[in-house]
Amino acid sequence: MLATYAVSEANSRGRHHPEPPPTARGEFQRDRDRIIHSTAFRRLEYKTQVFVNHEGDLFRTRLTHSIEVAQITRTIARALALNEDLAEAIALAHDLGHTPFGHAGQTALNACMKAYGGFEHNLQSLRTVDLLEEHYADFDGLNLAYETREGILKHCSRENASALGALGQRFLDGTQPSLEAQLANLADEIAYNNHDIDDGLRSGLITLEQLDEVAIFANQRRDVEARYPGLQGRRLIHETIRRMINLMAVDLIDRTRHNIDAAQVRTLDDVHQAPRLVAYSDELRPDLNRLKAFLRENLYHHYQVLRMTDKARRIITDLFGAFLSDPRLLPPQYQRRADTDTPRAIADYIAGMTDRYAMKEHRRLFAVGEIH
Ligand code: MG
Repeated sequence: MLATYAVSEANSRGRHHPEPPPTARGEFQRDRDRIIHSTAFRRLEYKTQVFVNHEGDLFRTRLTHSIEVAQITRTIARALALNEDLAEAIALAHDLGHTPFGHAGQTALNACMKAYGGFEHNLQSLRTVDLLEEHYADFDGLNLAYETREGILKHCSRENASALGALGQRFLDGTQPSLEAQLANLADEIAYNNHDIDDGLRSGLITLEQLDEVAIFANQRRDVEARYPGLQGRRLIHETIRRMINLMAVDLIDRTRHNIDAAQVRTLDDVHQAPRLVAYSDELRPDLNRLKAFLRENLYHHYQVLRMTDKARRIITDLFGAFLSDPRLLPPQYQRRADTDTPRAIADYIAGMTDRYAMKEHRRLFAVGEIH
């Protein structure tokens, strides 16, 4: 059933700590199951994607975002005869290392950690599954298969890559990860480009009129209106967005198939050596760039979003400063880690926080009159 160039249990590099094979499920299903049962996965429910969780119950959170990424990833993986279980596991885990408050949180924590090796959320996702999860008697972390970990580590600086050994090697020699990893990466983009339009419209920060200037949206909307004259509101938005998701997914499948054929890829090793194979067509890419630029200008940089992100920056900077000046303020389990590397232990603690936990911890440390 799997393509010859897909990752399989036969060509997998296995787990760091050898374990008996699972019964009644495959190795990559086991990885997916471990991810879903992790603490970090549940925390995604209360971590910001673009809108802070308490701003409204219907906006995407990191959790619902991750589930949408997994859905798109699985659909495309199956169409391309790739390893659907692996691709799903990567998608579900891809944001586990994200800080509270979305990208503002990551930028703030990276600035705090500047003198101590920096903070990268992709690397933190890997650190979460390799080290920080405390679930199993025999090892720290989740002991995931090499290929799942490879997919989770989407980006990495050269400096950090060289400290990672085999897993970081591809960032130094320019080889590619599995197709499943390449796919989860682009499915992430398909998911957020579309759901951010939906959430942006729902919030009122962007309008349907503004989206007339974004060709990929305007074209699909015209199709919907031709077929359903007079359709308005939520149904019009959803009918448009579902066509956009489909357009992007089908384009990706077609172009990737073409690339695989053109590069004469037969084995997993061919995938590693070939240029990046999972890609959009040259016709679609300018439209996607325009869409991204629109979202950046009109949603991510909207003054109401910037006000939230500025608050987030202050909360994270304050927390980091307080813990660094006196690590005894950390909860005991993080104090133990702080014995070996105090700034990293603080970053681990802060990165693990949900939005509301970070706000509560900030009040506990800074608000006069708070008693616990
Ligand atoms: Mg994501």
